[in-house]
Amino acid sequence: MKLSVKIIAGAIAIIVITIFSITGIASPKQSGIKRTDLQRHDLSAPGREMIQALVELAPGAAFGMHKHPGEEIIYVTEGALEYDVEGKGVVKLKAGDVLFVPAGTYHSARNNGQVSGAELATYVVEKGKPLIEFKK
Ligand code: MN
Repeated sequence: MKLSVKIIAGAIAIIVITIFSITGIASPKQSGIKRTDLQRHDLSAPGREMIQALVELAPGAAFGMHKHPGEEIIYVTEGALEYDVEGKGVVKLKAGDVLFVPAGTYHSARNNGQVSGAELATYVVEKGKPLIEFKK
């Protein structure tokens, strides 16, 4: 293979991996989950950005144990969701409830209800790092 082809192939691989890690579409842990990115902005704090997304969980859907390179601020907009937060235990929320997940804290989310659930997730995170890192 020519060097230029290798460089292009490498660049494409990096882009694909980055997209997968940001969106989480590589993970099999997310069936029944829809993420809609709403906004993303640099913050006044150096090296930090905010990302806001609407995460919808169908009945029975679960999002596996993961962490973020910063804080996650959750507001449940619809239905009821159950969170398992490392060091805190299981937290049950319904529409209108909020949850603060400290930086680097592993947590999971699940919709144990019979109706759709959704959360507005706001992240205050380090720029240039994958937003979601699943627990191995
Ligand atoms: Mn999270």
